[in-house]
Amino acid sequence: MEGNPTESSDWRKGKALVECHMYMWTNHIACDVIFVVGTEKEIIPAHKYILITRSSVFEAMFTGPFSTTREIILSDTDAVVFKDILKFLYSDEIDVSSENVTAILILAEHYSLHNLEDMCFQFLESHLSTQTACTAMETGHAYERSGLWEIAVDYIEMHASEVLQMTSSVSNLCHDCLHRLISSAQIDVKENVIFNAAIKWAESECGKRGRDVTPDALRDILGDTLFHIRFPLMSPDFFVNSVSRTGLLTEVERNAILETILCPKSKSSSFSGEPRKFVVRRVSRYPVHGEEWKYDWSYDDAVAFKCDRKIQVLGCILYGPKTEAKAEYTIKASIKGESQFTTTVEARSDDVTYDVMFPNALNVDANIVYTMTVTISGPPSFKGLCGMTKVVADGVTFWFSETSRSTNHTTTASGQIPGIIFKIVT
Ligand SMILES: [Zn+2]
Repeated sequence: MEGNPTESSDWRKGKALVECHMYMWTNHIACDVIFVVGTEKEIIPAHKYILITRSSVFEAMFTGPFSTTREIILSDTDAVVFKDILKFLYSDEIDVSSENVTAILILAEHYSLHNLEDMCFQFLESHLSTQTACTAMETGHAYERSGLWEIAVDYIEMHASEVLQMTSSVSNLCHDCLHRLISSAQIDVKENVIFNAAIKWAESECGKRGRDVTPDALRDILGDTLFHIRFPLMSPDFFVNSVSRTGLLTEVERNAILETILCPKSKSSSFSGEPRKFVVRRVSRYPVHGEEWKYDWSYDDAVAFKCDRKIQVLGCILYGPKTEAKAEYTIKASIKGESQFTTTVEARSDDVTYDVMFPNALNVDANIVYTMTVTISGPPSFKGLCGMTKVVADGVTFWFSETSRSTNHTTTASGQIPGIIFKIVT
Protein backbone atom coordinates (compact mmCIF):
# COMPACT_ATOMS: atom_id res chain seq x y z
CA MET A 1 0.00 0.00 0.00
CA GLU A 2 2.73 2.42 0.89
CA GLY A 3 5.02 1.71 -2.10
CA ASN A 4 5.60 4.13 -4.94
CA PRO A 5 2.31 4.51 -6.74
CA THR A 6 2.21 4.34 -10.50
CA GLU A 7 0.03 6.89 -12.18
CA SER A 8 -2.73 4.37 -12.91
CA SER A 9 -2.78 2.83 -9.41
CA ASP A 10 -2.55 6.06 -7.43
CA TRP A 11 -5.52 5.98 -5.07
CA ARG A 12 -5.26 9.78 -4.62
CA LYS A 13 -6.31 10.40 -8.20
CA GLY A 14 -9.61 12.23 -8.38
CA LYS A 15 -10.01 12.39 -4.59
CA ALA A 16 -10.56 15.58 -2.59
CA LEU A 17 -8.69 16.19 0.69
CA VAL A 18 -11.40 14.68 2.89
CA GLU A 19 -11.68 11.63 0.65
CA CYS A 20 -7.91 11.13 0.91
CA HIS A 21 -8.10 11.35 4.71
CA MET A 22 -10.92 8.82 4.77
CA TYR A 23 -8.97 6.52 2.43
CA MET A 24 -5.94 6.71 4.71
CA TRP A 25 -8.07 5.88 7.72
CA THR A 26 -10.22 3.11 6.30
CA ASN A 27 -7.19 1.43 4.69
CA HIS A 28 -4.99 1.86 7.79
CA ILE A 29 -2.23 3.68 5.90
CA ALA A 30 0.52 5.19 8.09
CA CYS A 31 -1.61 5.09 11.25
CA ASP A 32 0.37 6.07 14.34
CA VAL A 33 -2.08 5.29 17.14
CA ILE A 34 -4.21 2.27 17.96
CA PHE A 35 -7.36 2.33 20.05
CA VAL A 36 -8.44 -0.88 21.73
CA VAL A 37 -12.14 -0.31 22.19
CA GLY A 38 -14.98 -1.94 24.11
CA THR A 39 -15.34 -5.24 25.88
CA GLU A 40 -14.52 -7.02 22.60
CA LYS A 41 -11.20 -5.09 22.47
CA GLU A 42 -11.72 -4.04 18.85
CA ILE A 43 -8.54 -2.63 17.29
CA ILE A 44 -9.17 0.75 15.64
CA PRO A 45 -6.11 2.46 14.12
CA ALA A 46 -6.05 6.22 13.47
CA HIS A 47 -3.79 9.22 12.84
CA LYS A 48 -2.78 11.48 15.72
CA TYR A 49 -2.45 14.45 13.37
CA ILE A 50 -6.12 14.34 12.34
CA LEU A 51 -7.34 13.79 15.90
CA ILE A 52 -5.24 16.68 17.24
CA THR A 53 -6.55 19.06 14.58
CA ARG A 54 -10.09 18.31 15.72
CA SER A 55 -9.99 17.90 19.49
CA SER A 56 -8.17 19.63 22.33
CA VAL A 57 -8.58 16.45 24.36
CA PHE A 58 -6.65 14.42 21.79
CA GLU A 59 -4.07 17.22 21.64
CA ALA A 60 -3.50 16.93 25.39
CA MET A 61 -3.50 13.15 25.09
CA PHE A 62 -0.82 13.05 22.38
CA THR A 63 1.32 16.16 22.94
CA GLY A 64 1.04 17.16 26.60
CA PRO A 65 3.43 16.27 29.42
CA PHE A 66 1.31 13.18 30.13
CA SER A 67 1.04 12.15 26.50
CA THR A 68 0.20 8.52 26.07
CA THR A 69 1.88 5.85 24.02
CA ARG A 70 0.88 4.34 20.73
CA GLU A 71 -1.88 2.09 22.15
CA ILE A 72 -4.89 3.51 23.98
CA ILE A 73 -7.36 1.24 25.75
CA LEU A 74 -10.99 2.43 25.93
CA SER A 75 -12.74 -0.53 27.52
CA ASP A 76 -15.87 1.43 28.56
CA THR A 77 -16.46 2.91 25.10
CA ASP A 78 -18.78 1.39 22.51
CA ALA A 79 -16.71 0.56 19.42
CA VAL A 80 -19.48 1.36 16.94
CA VAL A 81 -20.06 4.82 18.41
CA PHE A 82 -16.30 5.47 18.66
CA LYS A 83 -15.91 4.65 14.96
CA ASP A 84 -18.80 7.05 14.21
CA ILE A 85 -16.91 9.74 16.12
CA LEU A 86 -13.63 9.01 14.29
CA LYS A 87 -15.44 9.13 10.95
CA PHE A 88 -16.77 12.56 11.95
CA LEU A 89 -13.24 13.72 12.86
CA TYR A 90 -11.93 12.65 9.44
CA SER A 91 -14.87 13.75 7.30
CA ASP A 92 -17.32 15.99 9.24
CA GLU A 93 -19.95 13.37 8.43
CA ILE A 94 -21.95 11.35 10.95
CA ASP A 95 -25.30 9.61 10.99
CA VAL A 96 -27.06 10.77 14.14
CA SER A 97 -30.20 8.79 14.99
CA SER A 98 -32.63 8.45 17.89
CA GLU A 99 -30.76 5.30 18.89
CA ASN A 100 -27.22 6.71 18.97
CA VAL A 101 -27.68 10.40 19.78
CA THR A 102 -27.16 10.04 23.54
CA ALA A 103 -24.03 7.91 23.14
CA ILE A 104 -22.60 10.29 20.52
CA LEU A 105 -23.32 13.27 22.74
CA ILE A 106 -21.46 11.71 25.67
CA LEU A 107 -18.35 11.12 23.54
CA ALA A 108 -18.68 14.52 21.85
CA GLU A 109 -18.61 16.16 25.27
CA HIS A 110 -15.77 13.91 26.45
CA TYR A 111 -13.57 14.86 23.49
CA SER A 112 -14.71 18.54 23.42
CA LEU A 113 -16.27 18.27 19.95
CA HIS A 114 -18.48 21.34 20.22
CA ASN A 115 -19.80 21.25 16.65
CA LEU A 116 -20.87 17.66 17.12
CA GLU A 117 -22.58 18.50 20.42
CA ASP A 118 -24.56 21.22 18.62
CA MET A 119 -25.51 18.75 15.88
CA CYS A 120 -26.86 16.38 18.54
CA PHE A 121 -28.86 19.15 20.25
CA GLN A 122 -30.31 20.22 16.91
CA PHE A 123 -31.15 16.62 16.07
CA LEU A 124 -33.05 16.21 19.35
CA GLU A 125 -34.92 19.49 18.83
CA SER A 126 -35.99 18.65 15.31
CA HIS A 127 -36.81 14.98 15.92
CA LEU A 128 -39.05 15.18 18.97
CA SER A 129 -41.33 12.19 19.20
CA THR A 130 -43.00 10.19 21.94
CA GLN A 131 -39.87 8.00 21.96
CA THR A 132 -37.28 10.81 22.16
CA ALA A 133 -39.02 13.54 24.17
CA CYS A 134 -37.78 12.41 27.61
CA THR A 135 -34.23 11.97 26.31
CA ALA A 136 -34.40 15.48 24.84
CA MET A 137 -35.72 16.92 28.11
CA GLU A 138 -33.07 15.23 30.22
CA THR A 139 -30.31 16.13 27.74
CA GLY A 140 -31.45 19.77 27.82
CA HIS A 141 -31.26 19.62 31.61
CA ALA A 142 -27.95 17.79 31.90
CA TYR A 143 -26.19 20.00 29.31
CA GLU A 144 -27.90 23.22 30.50
CA ARG A 145 -29.54 23.81 27.13
CA SER A 146 -32.66 25.61 28.30
CA GLY A 147 -34.06 25.98 24.76
CA LEU A 148 -33.98 22.25 24.14
CA TRP A 149 -35.36 21.56 27.62
CA GLU A 150 -38.31 23.95 27.14
CA ILE A 151 -39.19 22.60 23.71
CA ALA A 152 -39.15 19.07 25.10
CA VAL A 153 -41.33 20.05 28.09
CA ASP A 154 -43.84 21.69 25.73
CA TYR A 155 -43.89 18.58 23.57
CA ILE A 156 -44.40 16.27 26.54
CA GLU A 157 -47.18 18.47 27.96
CA MET A 158 -48.96 18.23 24.61
CA HIS A 159 -48.38 14.48 24.16
CA ALA A 160 -48.22 13.38 27.81
CA SER A 161 -50.61 10.44 27.48
CA GLU A 162 -48.30 8.71 25.01
CA VAL A 163 -44.93 9.88 26.38
CA LEU A 164 -45.58 9.00 30.03
CA GLN A 165 -46.59 5.47 29.12
CA MET A 166 -43.14 4.82 27.64
CA THR A 167 -41.53 3.46 30.79
CA SER A 168 -38.02 3.14 29.35
CA SER A 169 -38.06 6.82 28.35
CA VAL A 170 -39.52 8.11 31.60
CA SER A 171 -36.92 6.22 33.63
CA ASN A 172 -34.22 8.32 31.91
CA LEU A 173 -35.52 11.44 33.64
CA CYS A 174 -33.90 12.78 36.79
CA HIS A 175 -36.09 13.52 39.79
CA ASP A 176 -36.20 17.26 39.00
CA CYS A 177 -37.45 16.65 35.46
CA LEU A 178 -40.02 14.07 36.59
CA HIS A 179 -41.21 16.52 39.25
CA ARG A 180 -41.53 19.30 36.64
CA LEU A 181 -43.90 17.13 34.60
CA ILE A 182 -45.94 15.71 37.48
CA SER A 183 -46.40 19.14 39.05
CA SER A 184 -47.38 20.74 35.73
CA ALA A 185 -50.67 22.60 35.77
CA GLN A 186 -50.83 22.45 31.98
CA ILE A 187 -50.38 18.86 30.97
CA ASP A 188 -52.73 16.88 28.78
CA VAL A 189 -53.04 13.60 30.66
CA LYS A 190 -55.19 11.63 33.09
CA GLU A 191 -54.03 11.15 36.68
CA ASN A 192 -53.85 7.37 36.37
CA VAL A 193 -51.22 7.75 33.63
CA ILE A 194 -49.27 10.17 35.84
CA PHE A 195 -49.50 7.78 38.80
CA ASN A 196 -48.33 4.77 36.76
CA ALA A 197 -45.43 6.79 35.32
CA ALA A 198 -44.38 7.93 38.80
CA ILE A 199 -44.42 4.36 40.14
CA LYS A 200 -42.49 2.94 37.18
CA TRP A 201 -39.93 5.75 37.51
CA ALA A 202 -39.53 5.13 41.26
CA GLU A 203 -39.18 1.36 40.70
CA SER A 204 -36.46 2.03 38.14
CA GLU A 205 -34.72 4.38 40.61
CA CYS A 206 -34.85 1.64 43.27
CA GLY A 207 -32.95 -0.59 40.85
CA LYS A 208 -30.37 2.13 40.07
CA ARG A 209 -29.84 2.79 43.79
CA GLY A 210 -29.70 -0.87 44.77
CA ARG A 211 -32.80 -0.68 46.93
CA ASP A 212 -35.58 -3.25 47.21
CA VAL A 213 -38.89 -2.14 45.71
CA THR A 214 -41.05 -1.59 48.79
CA PRO A 215 -43.84 0.95 49.42
CA ASP A 216 -41.54 2.81 51.82
CA ALA A 217 -38.70 2.93 49.30
CA LEU A 218 -41.01 4.15 46.51
CA ARG A 219 -42.43 6.85 48.73
CA ASP A 220 -39.00 7.88 49.93
CA ILE A 221 -37.65 8.13 46.37
CA LEU A 222 -40.66 10.05 45.06
CA GLY A 223 -40.49 12.47 47.98
CA ASP A 224 -42.54 15.64 47.56
CA THR A 225 -43.46 14.66 43.99
CA LEU A 226 -46.06 12.23 45.39
CA PHE A 227 -48.09 15.18 46.64
CA HIS A 228 -48.41 16.58 43.11
CA ILE A 229 -50.34 13.56 41.87
CA ARG A 230 -53.96 14.68 41.86
CA PHE A 231 -55.46 11.53 43.38
CA PRO A 232 -58.91 13.11 43.95
CA LEU A 233 -59.36 13.31 40.15
CA MET A 234 -59.05 9.53 39.76
CA SER A 235 -62.03 7.21 39.37
CA PRO A 236 -62.96 5.32 42.59
CA ASP A 237 -62.25 2.07 40.76
CA PHE A 238 -58.70 3.03 39.75
CA PHE A 239 -57.93 4.51 43.15
CA VAL A 240 -59.11 1.47 45.10
CA ASN A 241 -57.74 -1.21 42.79
CA SER A 242 -54.53 0.38 41.53
CA VAL A 243 -53.45 3.02 44.05
CA SER A 244 -54.59 1.81 47.47
CA ARG A 245 -53.16 -1.66 46.93
CA THR A 246 -49.64 -0.34 46.35
CA GLY A 247 -49.46 0.58 50.04
CA LEU A 248 -47.89 3.87 49.02
CA LEU A 249 -50.38 6.01 50.90
CA THR A 250 -51.21 5.93 54.59
CA GLU A 251 -54.65 4.85 55.73
CA VAL A 252 -55.49 8.41 56.73
CA GLU A 253 -54.45 9.69 53.28
CA ARG A 254 -56.41 6.96 51.51
CA ASN A 255 -59.59 7.65 53.46
CA ALA A 256 -59.33 11.41 52.92
CA ILE A 257 -58.74 10.99 49.17
CA LEU A 258 -61.63 8.52 48.83
CA GLU A 259 -63.89 10.95 50.63
CA THR A 260 -62.89 13.71 48.18
CA ILE A 261 -63.34 11.40 45.17
CA LEU A 262 -66.83 10.42 46.31
CA CYS A 263 -67.79 13.84 47.55
CA PRO A 264 -65.63 16.45 45.75
CA LYS A 265 -66.93 19.39 47.78
CA SER A 266 -65.67 17.86 51.03
CA LYS A 267 -62.04 18.72 50.21
CA SER A 268 -60.84 16.67 53.16
CA SER A 269 -57.68 15.57 51.34
CA SER A 270 -54.50 17.58 51.22
CA PHE A 271 -53.95 16.34 47.65
CA SER A 272 -55.09 18.74 44.95
CA GLY A 273 -58.27 17.90 43.08
CA GLU A 274 -57.94 20.87 40.73
CA PRO A 275 -58.14 19.67 37.11
CA ARG A 276 -54.98 20.25 35.11
CA LYS A 277 -55.59 22.69 32.30
CA PHE A 278 -54.23 22.19 28.88
CA VAL A 279 -56.23 24.90 27.24
CA VAL A 280 -56.14 24.84 23.49
CA ARG A 281 -57.50 28.07 22.06
CA ARG A 282 -58.59 28.98 18.58
CA VAL A 283 -58.78 32.21 16.65
CA SER A 284 -61.00 32.44 13.56
CA ARG A 285 -60.77 35.30 11.08
CA TYR A 286 -63.63 34.56 8.67
CA PRO A 287 -67.21 35.10 9.89
CA VAL A 288 -68.68 33.38 6.81
CA HIS A 289 -67.62 30.78 4.28
CA GLY A 290 -68.51 30.21 0.67
CA GLU A 291 -67.33 28.24 -2.35
CA GLU A 292 -64.84 27.35 -3.66
CA TRP A 293 -61.03 27.31 -3.34
CA LYS A 294 -58.80 25.33 -5.68
CA TYR A 295 -55.29 23.96 -5.19
CA ASP A 296 -52.14 23.50 -7.15
CA TRP A 297 -49.07 22.10 -5.38
CA SER A 298 -46.92 24.85 -6.90
CA TYR A 299 -48.88 27.67 -5.22
CA ASP A 300 -49.04 28.61 -1.54
CA ASP A 301 -51.81 30.04 0.59
CA ALA A 302 -50.42 32.30 3.28
CA VAL A 303 -51.42 34.92 5.79
CA ALA A 304 -49.28 37.14 8.00
CA PHE A 305 -50.23 37.72 11.62
CA LYS A 306 -49.06 39.20 14.88
CA CYS A 307 -50.57 39.13 18.35
CA ASP A 308 -50.19 41.09 21.56
CA ARG A 309 -49.17 38.21 23.83
CA LYS A 310 -46.59 35.50 23.78
CA ILE A 311 -48.30 32.35 22.52
CA GLN A 312 -47.45 28.95 21.19
CA VAL A 313 -48.96 28.00 17.87
CA LEU A 314 -50.09 24.38 17.98
CA GLY A 315 -51.61 24.17 14.51
CA CYS A 316 -53.85 25.79 11.94
CA ILE A 317 -57.46 25.49 10.86
CA LEU A 318 -58.12 24.82 7.17
CA TYR A 319 -61.26 24.58 5.03
CA GLY A 320 -62.36 21.08 4.04
CA PRO A 321 -64.00 19.67 0.90
CA LYS A 322 -66.86 21.51 -0.77
CA THR A 323 -67.58 19.21 -3.68
CA GLU A 324 -67.09 15.82 -1.99
CA ALA A 325 -68.43 14.41 1.30
CA LYS A 326 -64.97 13.21 2.32
CA ALA A 327 -61.56 13.99 0.92
CA GLU A 328 -57.89 13.51 1.61
CA TYR A 329 -55.63 16.53 1.60
CA THR A 330 -51.85 16.61 1.65
CA ILE A 331 -50.63 19.74 3.38
CA LYS A 332 -47.18 21.23 3.61
CA ALA A 333 -47.26 23.83 6.36
CA SER A 334 -44.75 26.24 7.85
CA ILE A 335 -44.67 29.22 10.13
CA LYS A 336 -41.95 31.85 10.38
CA GLY A 337 -40.76 30.41 7.04
CA GLU A 338 -39.32 27.45 8.93
CA SER A 339 -40.53 24.44 10.92
CA GLN A 340 -41.87 23.03 7.70
CA PHE A 341 -43.62 19.68 7.74
CA THR A 342 -45.93 17.70 5.48
CA THR A 343 -48.96 15.72 6.57
CA THR A 344 -52.02 14.06 5.12
CA VAL A 345 -55.45 14.63 6.64
CA GLU A 346 -58.87 13.18 5.88
CA ALA A 347 -61.50 15.93 6.02
CA ARG A 348 -65.29 15.88 5.89
CA SER A 349 -67.54 18.32 4.11
CA ASP A 350 -69.98 18.38 7.07
CA ASP A 351 -67.33 19.83 9.36
CA VAL A 352 -66.48 22.68 6.93
CA THR A 353 -63.01 23.00 8.51
CA TYR A 354 -60.36 20.59 9.79
CA ASP A 355 -57.39 20.98 12.11
CA VAL A 356 -53.76 20.46 11.18
CA MET A 357 -51.62 20.09 14.30
CA PHE A 358 -47.92 20.89 14.06
CA PRO A 359 -45.50 18.23 15.31
CA ASN A 360 -44.06 20.75 17.79
CA ALA A 361 -45.50 23.83 19.46
CA LEU A 362 -43.95 26.95 17.92
CA ASN A 363 -43.10 29.94 20.10
CA VAL A 364 -44.53 33.22 18.84
CA ASP A 365 -43.45 36.46 20.52
CA ALA A 366 -45.75 39.43 21.04
CA ASN A 367 -45.87 42.15 18.37
CA ILE A 368 -43.72 40.33 15.82
CA VAL A 369 -45.15 39.56 12.40
CA TYR A 370 -45.10 35.88 11.41
CA THR A 371 -46.29 34.19 8.25
CA MET A 372 -48.35 31.00 8.22
CA THR A 373 -47.94 29.24 4.86
CA VAL A 374 -49.72 26.13 3.58
CA THR A 375 -49.35 24.28 0.30
CA ILE A 376 -52.32 22.01 -0.29
CA SER A 377 -53.03 19.13 -2.64
CA GLY A 378 -56.63 17.91 -2.84
CA PRO A 379 -60.09 18.68 -4.25
CA PRO A 380 -61.67 22.16 -4.08
CA SER A 381 -62.66 23.29 -0.60
CA PHE A 382 -64.78 25.93 1.03
CA LYS A 383 -63.23 29.36 1.33
CA GLY A 384 -63.54 32.14 3.88
CA LEU A 385 -65.25 35.46 3.14
CA CYS A 386 -65.48 38.91 4.75
CA GLY A 387 -62.18 38.30 6.59
CA MET A 388 -61.44 40.39 9.68
CA THR A 389 -58.00 41.97 10.11
CA LYS A 390 -58.32 42.24 13.91
CA VAL A 391 -59.74 39.45 16.08
CA VAL A 392 -59.70 39.08 19.86
CA ALA A 393 -59.68 35.44 21.00
CA ASP A 394 -59.58 34.52 24.71
CA GLY A 395 -57.97 37.85 25.57
CA VAL A 396 -55.33 37.67 22.83
CA THR A 397 -55.59 40.24 20.03
CA PHE A 398 -54.55 39.04 16.58
CA TRP A 399 -53.89 41.28 13.59
CA PHE A 400 -53.92 39.61 10.16
CA SER A 401 -52.22 41.10 7.12
CA GLU A 402 -51.38 40.12 3.56
CA THR A 403 -48.14 38.58 2.40
CA SER A 404 -46.49 38.19 -0.98
CA ARG A 405 -45.94 34.51 -0.13
CA SER A 406 -49.64 33.89 -0.80
CA THR A 407 -49.29 32.89 -4.44
CA ASN A 408 -52.61 30.96 -4.38
CA HIS A 409 -54.32 34.28 -3.62
CA THR A 410 -55.46 33.92 0.00
CA THR A 411 -55.82 37.47 1.33
CA THR A 412 -57.10 39.11 4.49
CA ALA A 413 -60.53 39.26 2.84
CA SER A 414 -60.96 35.74 1.47
CA GLY A 415 -59.38 32.34 0.94
CA GLN A 416 -57.81 29.62 3.10
CA ILE A 417 -56.34 29.48 6.64
CA PRO A 418 -59.48 30.52 8.54
CA GLY A 419 -57.77 30.20 11.90
CA ILE A 420 -54.89 29.35 14.20
CA ILE A 421 -54.82 26.89 17.12
CA PHE A 422 -52.74 28.19 19.99
CA LYS A 423 -51.88 28.10 23.67
CA ILE A 424 -51.24 31.18 25.81
CA VAL A 425 -47.78 31.16 27.36
CA THR A 426 -48.05 32.09 31.02
ZN1 LIG B 1 -33.35 16.33 34.56
